Amino acid sequence: MSSSREIRSRTLTGIAAAQGLAAGPAAVWREQAVTIPRGTGRQPATETARLTAARAAARNEIRALRAKVAAEAGQAEAAIFDAHEMFIDDAALLRKAQQAIDRGVNAEAAWADAIEFFASQLEQLPDPTLQARAADVRDVGGRVLDHLVGRGAAGLRLDEPSVVISRDLAPSQIASLPVARVLAFCTAEGGPTSHTAILAKAWGKPAVVGLGTAVLELRDGTAVLVDGTRGEIVIDPDEQTTREFSQRRGAAERQAATERGAAGDPAITRDHRRVEVVANIGAVEEAAVALQHGAEGIGLLRTEFLYLSRRTAPTEDEHLAAYEAILRVMASRPVIARTMDIGGDKPAPYLDLPKEANPFLGWRAIRISLQRPELFAVQLRALLRASPGHDLRIMFPMIASIDELRAAKAELERARRAVTSAGHPVAARLQVGMMVEVPSAAVLADQFARETDFFSIGTNDLTQYTMAADRTNERVAHLGDACHPAVLRQIGSVVQAAHRVGPWVGVCGELAGDPDAVPLLLGLDLDELSMAPAAIPAVKAIIRRWSGAGAKRLVAKALDLDSASAVRNLVRATAPA
Ligand code: PEP
Ligand code: MG
Repeated sequence: MSSSREIRSRTLTGIAAAQGLAAGPAAVWREQAVTIPRGTGRQPATETARLTAARAAARNEIRALRAKVAAEAGQAEAAIFDAHEMFIDDAALLRKAQQAIDRGVNAEAAWADAIEFFASQLEQLPDPTLQARAADVRDVGGRVLDHLVGRGAAGLRLDEPSVVISRDLAPSQIASLPVARVLAFCTAEGGPTSHTAILAKAWGKPAVVGLGTAVLELRDGTAVLVDGTRGEIVIDPDEQTTREFSQRRGAAERQAATERGAAGDPAITRDHRRVEVVANIGAVEEAAVALQHGAEGIGLLRTEFLYLSRRTAPTEDEHLAAYEAILRVMASRPVIARTMDIGGDKPAPYLDLPKEANPFLGWRAIRISLQRPELFAVQLRALLRASPGHDLRIMFPMIASIDELRAAKAELERARRAVTSAGHPVAARLQVGMMVEVPSAAVLADQFARETDFFSIGTNDLTQYTMAADRTNERVAHLGDACHPAVLRQIGSVVQAAHRVGPWVGVCGELAGDPDAVPLLLGLDLDELSMAPAAIPAVKAIIRRWSGAGAKRLVAKALDLDSASAVRNLVRATAPA
């Protein structure tokens, strides 16, 4: 029996990576075994010139892919190709390849060995984020090799709209696909934070990752149903399954169209409670996208995009230009700029961040800012200069102790004095808040509340710290569900503490855009929810279906449950009230 027959009419379960339903024929991206020609006694000058030419050709391709992804998915998603371009010119990599070439080795073997050396070094590091960069190094290495061996860039031809199936997808593979013909992505490997997941979400395609290698045995053209919401695919479905699936898909599409039509209206519950629904963005271009999806402001501007994928720190004028561009789009709507949150899974080469055993527990975010005040001041001054005429708010990430909050506010005051004494105006009233994403801040929320204008709860980090489950490690992903009562109870007590003292409270972690979580957050009395722009229309619709009182009854039950899955089942089984 062939393995492709073994997986007929089967449901495979993986990890839900991007929501949505799709049905279509499979197009399997088969890996080609590459034989690297090996030779010695070559002319170093000739081989060096060949390698330089291949790198130049690969660099042009990467720039073209970058432009394509920036146009189709956004600048933040395209930034990965800046890192790829940097690999091509990496001094240590080139030195290693050149040493072999100088010994007479041919360019293909010299380059392939150097790539493999650095990729396997990365794989041995304890940090899963750095391990994952090995795939990027191999991706870039393969592209240069394609030119050296004269293969031309390998790709997947899609003659008709298809479900793309592959082991994992490197960013350049994804970017080379004709987006309009991709119905969905299914990968054998990868986790919920993989490049496939991020790009699929940005393109609005469903994706299921981590399906296991059986999926690679599929024959091209086999019918596949993809449920990116549940994280399942059905292979070669029978007629009844196909019919039910297409009914669900039709209903989901009709509902999404209705929700998009009402996205510009406010989100008000049946008992007249208004919840502010705002967007998380990480690039200047996303501000306009947020408005199109009905965002009432920006609840989280991740300013890291200004720091990543570059060789030197951004200047005050670069900061200022970016903030002004976003504020111009948002006019008088609130924009919460979070000061830099580098470290953890977000490296910046020029900061010389030391390799740490536990980067998420290490030197990151406000901890770096407070120890590098000159760097911090550049960002704070630019934010203050951008503030006049707008509702710009400043938020500090990763606050764990009250001393950090006070020190950050003191730096802001220092920056304000510097800006005003240089003759620049600053908005008279500017809200200053903090993220609650470290359990210590959640527990002592009543103390923090006296010294802040608002809290924004970062459930991504709050969950990883509460559950002790690294958010980038797919092996512990099952522990990292923010619907866990241990996380929900903290959210509830933060809101209560804040409302007793005065600050308003929002959520800006992924939980805010999670349809199961929305009634719970409503019941916990959140004032604001901030999420990826694409999630806004559906979240507003959910808020309108519930009453605040009904949501409170629901959450009272949820807080007594003992697992995230029990909470999700309860929400799904409860009709809005
Ligand atoms: C969070 O931790 O929930 C958050 C919004 O911040 P980030 O995802 O950028 O760490
Ligand atoms: Mg965070």
